[in-house]
Amino acid sequence: MAVSEEDRHLRLTGEFDCDATPLATLRHSTSHVMAQAVKRLFPEVKVAIGPAIEDGFYYDFDKREPFTPEDLARVEKVMAEIVKADLPFERQEMPRAEAVEFFRQRGERYKVEILEGIEAPTVSLYRQGDFIDLCRGPHVARTGELKAFKLLSSSGAYWRGDEHNPMLQRIYGTAWLTQEELDKYLWRLEEAKKRDHRKLGRELDLFDFYDVAPGAPFWLPGGMILVRELEKFAREQLDARGYQEIATPIMLHRKLWERSGHWEYFQDNMFKLEVEDELFTLKPMNCPPSSYVYKRTVRSYRDLPLRYSEMGRDHRNERSGTLTGLVRVRQFTQDDAHIYLRPDQLQDEIASLLELVRLWYKTFDLAPSYKLSTRPEKYLGTLEQWDGAEAALHQALRSQGLAYDLNPGDGAFYGPKIDIYVEDALARSWQIATIQVDLTMLPERMECEYIDTDGQPKRPVVIHRAIYGSYERFIGILTEHYAGAFPSWLAPVQARVIPISEKFADYARSVHERLRAARIRSELDDRNEKLGYRIRDAQLRKVPYMLVCGGREAEQGTVSLRHRSGDDLGAVPVDRVLADLTREIAARDSSLTVGRS
Ligand SMILES: [Zn+2]
Ligand SMILES: [Zn+2]
Repeated sequence: MAVSEEDRHLRLTGEFDCDATPLATLRHSTSHVMAQAVKRLFPEVKVAIGPAIEDGFYYDFDKREPFTPEDLARVEKVMAEIVKADLPFERQEMPRAEAVEFFRQRGERYKVEILEGIEAPTVSLYRQGDFIDLCRGPHVARTGELKAFKLLSSSGAYWRGDEHNPMLQRIYGTAWLTQEELDKYLWRLEEAKKRDHRKLGRELDLFDFYDVAPGAPFWLPGGMILVRELEKFAREQLDARGYQEIATPIMLHRKLWERSGHWEYFQDNMFKLEVEDELFTLKPMNCPPSSYVYKRTVRSYRDLPLRYSEMGRDHRNERSGTLTGLVRVRQFTQDDAHIYLRPDQLQDEIASLLELVRLWYKTFDLAPSYKLSTRPEKYLGTLEQWDGAEAALHQALRSQGLAYDLNPGDGAFYGPKIDIYVEDALARSWQIATIQVDLTMLPERMECEYIDTDGQPKRPVVIHRAIYGSYERFIGILTEHYAGAFPSWLAPVQARVIPISEKFADYARSVHERLRAARIRSELDDRNEKLGYRIRDAQLRKVPYMLVCGGREAEQGTVSLRHRSGDDLGAVPVDRVLADLTREIAARDSSLTVGRS
């Protein structure tokens, strides 16, 4: 039914408008078979809707008791029988009024409600064996085509996503064209659970959450290393490209937002504070305050582009139920920038931004893809402005040789934008960076100007852009992408020096001190524990390098080098470890190279 009109009317959150690709058709057909199996096992249950979703499908059932894991196993078994019976999916058209009566007689009140919301005079039903569902289709020809599926979980879900409606029981499943694809997907699910950044953040002492600050992390020393290294990387890149860093206040008077236009649309999302009878807010974004820096003096066409970067500490009043680890927070730090330029400079600036983005993500082994969103129905500014800006974005993408998707009509009301997605190590897609052209919002509302060649004041174009997006979310994504095993330049501890016994503690300490002097983040583990225990502990902490020190090593000025993967690289001179590790860290190399050559 994801492909049917009624689901499109429902528009439940998290649900995709599903097209009739082979995979979506297969998944949706599997949801029918699941509903058939549920009805066979629980005849009193009423069926609601069962769309295909990303990676799978679900079906909602009106059932008093939740489904247990044992129930799901039984449902799966009956589904296998239905598949084995190889029943045909048969389409049948019926006048709408007749269909209403048909489902009413069967007590399927959700189908009746859906039908009453449809205007078409005729609707289609699909039957396989003894199960009939209201559905636009399409479906696979026979149940025998469903070869690789698995039921995953069940949970409560309100009818039509509305908490005033009855609570239904939803079963989620996944289905693929081959068993191999299914196995791979299930592996990814397992791996994603293991990599959950909330779990790893706690285990690796990176960050934690406490009930006194919902949606805001406490950064632990290890996590703070990540923040600082990411900031350092960002600042190096921006300094080399003519950015100037600014910082604007976190608490700002409401009149600023009234002027910028955000008060009207965004005030429910802002935290408000009363100070001396005046209303202030914690800023949810950095754009309006950044314009004060631009406007301090008269700007000439010669001054542009002006690139102001800001590590903007922002707050948004997200509902507590939506907060999720570092990926959905109330307090976050954007790697923000506002670039003021002349319209004729737009294309070059976007092109160099795209180049920067590519280089940036390459450092983290993340593969970017691009989506260009164009003029929406409701927009501010002139058609010429929009056409010019859109042409500049197309040209910039092409000049960089980048393939991109088009999202017609999805731009902001004040300008077109390029959203950048990355794919992580588990092939999951995340939207991170945005390059947003602003033709009117900051320029007009905040009255920004420059004096053009003709001596007349003109409005600049502004680019809003963030590349990490926010430090919080990016670190959450990186933690899962690397499964906590960060490249050495990011690793909170880069090396652990381990004497095999107390006898060699002095030598180990001297190695540790040499590493520290070279500004390598080293730890000395001279605890009174077995060597094997200490090596395993360093591996669990995902420390890239272990430098084991014994008698022979002390004599020869070497260490016995191990990688966290378990690779034993044998004796390596301390001098070489120092030189190679220093080089690896400076190059922000993403693989462990020391001792390999
Ligand atoms: Zn269907
Ligand atoms: Zn902005």
